[in-house]
Amino acid sequence: MKVAAMFGDGTAGLIDKPNPIPKEDYVLVKVHAVPMCTEYKMFKANHKGDGFGHEAVGEVVEIAQPGLVKIGDRVVVQPQYPCGRCQLCLMGEYIHCQNTKNVRDITGSTTGTATYSQYVLKVDWLCSPIPDDVSYEHAGMALCGLGPTFGAMQQMQVDALDTVLITGLGPVGLGGVINAKYRGACVIGIESHPYRANLAKELGADFVLDPNDGDLVKKIMDITQGIGVDKSVDCSGALQAHRLMIDVARRKGHVTFVGEGGEFPLAASRDMVRKGLTLRGNWHYNLSDYPKLMKVIRESRKQLDKFITHKFPMSQVQKAWELQITGNCGKMVLDPWS
Ligand SMILES: [Zn+2]
Ligand SMILES: [Zn+2]
Repeated sequence: MKVAAMFGDGTAGLIDKPNPIPKEDYVLVKVHAVPMCTEYKMFKANHKGDGFGHEAVGEVVEIAQPGLVKIGDRVVVQPQYPCGRCQLCLMGEYIHCQNTKNVRDITGSTTGTATYSQYVLKVDWLCSPIPDDVSYEHAGMALCGLGPTFGAMQQMQVDALDTVLITGLGPVGLGGVINAKYRGACVIGIESHPYRANLAKELGADFVLDPNDGDLVKKIMDITQGIGVDKSVDCSGALQAHRLMIDVARRKGHVTFVGEGGEFPLAASRDMVRKGLTLRGNWHYNLSDYPKLMKVIRESRKQLDKFITHKFPMSQVQKAWELQITGNCGKMVLDPWS
């Protein structure tokens, strides 16, 4: 099969690798669409190697034993290789499982865990069914496109009475705009990249402000009649954004960290006790909420067509990564068969 590789000199392309072979409850999925995530950062750093990607949607083409899926099923391939048995897995919070399985040891295949590939292996219970009337590209937004911010908004119970601040409008934050508008909230986005600021407005963001605006805090407080923001999601990982969420949160507000970042100063008294804030971290979403996220996807088709700005054949993966580096894109999807 073909898989995407970085050659270490600013070039990338396809190489041949052996097809993975299903074993036990790991099934073989023929990948029809690969949503692109943060892999471009490695390309930018002249990384050399293959085995990229954690997002895929496709069709079950081979199983080793009867289980939860059958050949021909269209599925979202959920991320990670959790145990399926611990308390976190059983409650749908498998993304936080601490007993990650080694798929290569279980299946004996040296491939199948990277999604920039024509085939992947996944345990059957993490192959989530795609409704017949939902395209592969749209279904793929149930991964990092809409997933992390959906999980954040489920936890914070975002609704039409809320003003939601979303800092960082890359593909994850733009997905957050779709999720928040679906719930009827007023959305304030923070982004300096003009392409992404414009796309956020097209997706329905009510306000998009520049993080370098000296009056940023005042402008947000004015929008919220001096009260502050009800709920915030950071999708940038930037320390400045982490601090901004705290500074503009209303008393008893909610703040969720989605973008990964380092340490930032937090004052127990001023920020937490007096404000009564609730701070959360969120990675993906509870698996039991998958049908709800699929409902969002089904009812947001026009939004998703704007959100997915580019589709590339995987043979042009270099061109696709080069475009991602410019930031002049929303979510991008690869076709591993062209
Ligand atoms: Zn587990
Ligand atoms: Zn991702």
